[in-house]
Amino acid sequence: AKKMGRNNTQFYQPAMNEEALERVRIESALRNALERDEFVLHYQPQLDLQSGRVVGMEALIRWQHPELGMVAPGRFIGLAEETGLIVPIGAWVLRTACAQAKAWQDAGHGVLRIAVNLSPRQFSEPKLLAAIAEVLRETGLPPSCLEIELTEGLFMNDVALAVELLHKLKALGLALSIDDFGTGYSSFSYLRRFPIDVLKIDRSFISDIGEGDEAAIVVSIIALAHNLKLRVIAEGVETAAQLDYLRRNGCDEIQGYYFSPPVPPIEFERMLIDGKSL
Ligand code: C2E
Ligand code: CA
Ligand code: CA
Ligand code: CA
Repeated sequence: AKKMGRNNTQFYQPAMNEEALERVRIESALRNALERDEFVLHYQPQLDLQSGRVVGMEALIRWQHPELGMVAPGRFIGLAEETGLIVPIGAWVLRTACAQAKAWQDAGHGVLRIAVNLSPRQFSEPKLLAAIAEVLRETGLPPSCLEIELTEGLFMNDVALAVELLHKLKALGLALSIDDFGTGYSSFSYLRRFPIDVLKIDRSFISDIGEGDEAAIVVSIIALAHNLKLRVIAEGVETAAQLDYLRRNGCDEIQGYYFSPPVPPIEFERMLIDGKSL
């Protein structure tokens, strides 16, 4: 009876059991998705505000689930990170994005930059450097066309180690950008210590444009970036008013629904062929 009682205790934690089960299910589903080639990349154009032209794109992953349809990254990236599956998934993203960018360059669409998101887990993967170098070599994409997007949280752990790794990444010839700038545990000190090339102003600040004082933050980030000789990209630009404001205040590039959401490769290529610009 006692033994049964112990077994029964499991039933008193149904939430935990179900959660654990759900995680195992999603983990194996993610593993299958990778094997079955169910992930796809969509691309969102980045535009230069002076020329008004597409100068690059951010690769954003989606899961083309046989039953659920198109699943947004917000629903699986966190779990992929926790389980470590983000490492093989991220490797797939990097290879696919670089190959695509090279193909578009070869098709005569000019020197396009490709931005790829890197999760903290990938950053602490010992083989990261070699993996990136290999992708660049195999795809033939000029390293200067690859931009790696990092988040501020990354700089919190072992600072000395992070600085060293970032310098090694830079030595490959690629560019480093800080994603969602201003939302993390921002510390200005890392801006001087880390070899960063680009700041991406988080869209929460962009949506504040036109609402009084709030836009002061946007202007300050642009000035900060330029004083540090960094390029600055505004993300989440949705309106003409936001665009005008950013242009007037010297922002370098924009990305957002105003010009285009992330789109499948075919649609992105059509945009390039049509020469669609701001
Ligand atoms: P993120 O890197 O900050 O990417 C920008 C997100 O904002 C994208 O959401 C994009 O679709 C969305 N967005 C772009 N323009 C606008 C706009 O004008 N208005 C609004 N409201 N949203 C806009 P998405 O594609 O759902 O990606 C969400 C997050 O998932 C990304 O945020 C990134 O953190 C993560 N993610 C996506 N792809 C990858 C990947 O390949 N690897 C890793 N590690 N993370 C990824
Ligand atoms: Ca990003
Ligand atoms: Ca972002
Ligand atoms: Ca974000």
